[in-house]
Amino acid sequence: MTSDPRFVSSERGFDSGAVSRSSPTSRTEKPPLRVYSPGKIVNPVFEELLRRGLVRRRTGPGKYEVACPWCTGNEGELDPGAVYREPDEEHPAGSFRCLRGRCAGKGIDNLLGFLSLTREDASLKPRICTIPGRVNQVVEAAEQELARTGRYFRRSGEVVSVSRRGAGNRLTLTPATQPSLMIELTRLADWCHYDGRRRKTVPCDPPLRYLAAILDNQDSSRLPELSGVSRQPVLRPDGSVRTTPGFDPENGLYGDFDPKEFAIPENPGKSDAEAACRELEAVLGEFPFEAPCDRSAAVSAMLCAAVRPRLPTAPMYHAKAHLPGSGKSYLASVIAAFGSPDAVPVVPFPKDEEECRKLLLSIFLEAPPVVVFDNLTEDIRAFKSLCIALTEPAMGGRLLGTNRSVDVSTKTLLLSTGNNVGPVADMTRRVVPICLAPKDEIPANHVFRRPGLLSDVRRERGRLVSSALTVVSAWLRAGSPRSPSLPSVNSFQEWSSLCREPLLWLGREDPAQRMFESMREDPERLFDNRMLTALRETFQNGPFTVKMIADRFAGSFDSGLRDALEDEFCSRGELNRRRMGWWLKSKVGTRVDGRKLVKSAPWQKQLAYRIELAGEERKSPSFCGSR
Ligand SMILES: [Zn+2]
Repeated sequence: MTSDPRFVSSERGFDSGAVSRSSPTSRTEKPPLRVYSPGKIVNPVFEELLRRGLVRRRTGPGKYEVACPWCTGNEGELDPGAVYREPDEEHPAGSFRCLRGRCAGKGIDNLLGFLSLTREDASLKPRICTIPGRVNQVVEAAEQELARTGRYFRRSGEVVSVSRRGAGNRLTLTPATQPSLMIELTRLADWCHYDGRRRKTVPCDPPLRYLAAILDNQDSSRLPELSGVSRQPVLRPDGSVRTTPGFDPENGLYGDFDPKEFAIPENPGKSDAEAACRELEAVLGEFPFEAPCDRSAAVSAMLCAAVRPRLPTAPMYHAKAHLPGSGKSYLASVIAAFGSPDAVPVVPFPKDEEECRKLLLSIFLEAPPVVVFDNLTEDIRAFKSLCIALTEPAMGGRLLGTNRSVDVSTKTLLLSTGNNVGPVADMTRRVVPICLAPKDEIPANHVFRRPGLLSDVRRERGRLVSSALTVVSAWLRAGSPRSPSLPSVNSFQEWSSLCREPLLWLGREDPAQRMFESMREDPERLFDNRMLTALRETFQNGPFTVKMIADRFAGSFDSGLRDALEDEFCSRGELNRRRMGWWLKSKVGTRVDGRKLVKSAPWQKQLAYRIELAGEERKSPSFCGSR
């Protein structure tokens, strides 16, 4: 009867494996030897019913009509049968009910007694026994069960669960707490411990100290590391696309999307890429880009939003205009829709490094695909944490209100908007500007022909994101053809490959063009250039110290050096030597237009520097103190 096809279709696959069976509970037991007994794939109660020929038919998922052991033998009566249900959330040992009046009151415990099985035998849940001195095994077992749910992960040293919450049924990452773990682990496993006085293993709740150990277990955790959430299929390095949602151990990403919404050609060619690119450009049709490279940068931002989970680092995109009402915030929202179907966090730009670090940490902990710094009123300053957020795959910091240090992934696309403001200093090489230049006199009065563009984009997100992925996928499939003599962007090589090269391959302008422009036009860089030129003119390729500069300053009245120094390092006609010294120290290694500031051997026991021209490195290896 075991091979009866009516029964093998049951949910747990009864035909595999055997089950260890203990004898019915005796008065005293020996202490348990094993911490962890995995969940059973064979239901011993069902097996036993089957063996005794009591199972009649399967009537539903986990539900069977069985012959009642107490009603059999009463011939002549119409036997309506009894119902046995497999264990579930509410009934950990399963349930039993006979439809006849005389069996009223007989339940699962009576059935188990009749079959000589215990409640423990009947439970399909794994069992975790807290044996003293084996904390590591208990923690391991609990983590294994949490990992099996596919909802529990470790992220930045914390245990987090993914779940859907709120009005929009949005996927959120929630840090686990002792109470939440207690509830989950009670649901997932039967917990017990050995009661020495009663000489019996008895059920218990997961003890708090084990829960604390799970939350703190950073080094040997069994939970997979979650690097981020992707709201669309993920591109693989070979150009193929992973369209299965859920956790992908290959890249640590949790795919949260409906695969039916996306359609990417199996093996897209250049013509597919061209068509897809035109589709993206059509979305941008009404934005008043200043030049073709700005349109290209906007398309690149769309590609970047779509593939951001794949990139270790990416620059920030900055939509810039001269007048309000040019559509820059709207453009940011359209780009953001390529990273997420939901509204993304929009935050004011931080005022200082401290605020910036706190803000970025809290943002990255929640792993949003995109964040927008809207309507900047000042230039984008090179806060240290912002620089790290853009050029490093992870950033570390202390969690607010705790003394815990965390390391969070920076896999979030950063966008910013502002009128007449842009990146300065170190930010110029980390930001891709997109310039908008409306032709109307009062752009705020401009009437858009497609006022519902953003909702159109959100509605057709699947198709548009598929287009973005098609452009990149086709370029990868074509063997990643690289544009010759393209200026390189050091910190963003993969970004340059996936979000820049495909557009050049399709004959579009370099999306990074404005980035190089702002690097060249940056006021700080212009000043550096002026200083380095003046220092070279004054000292040739010989060494100089702060004292030597001060002497020259005092002695000459019309030189490029004096002008440059006066602008930046003087107060009341005096050269501020400390500021000069600090500037030199901070600029070692700076190279502008072929001139480079390098350290030289100390000169009369003082720090000395030299300006080196490109190609001079080998000619004058090091300064030896005589000139
Ligand atoms: Zn009965």
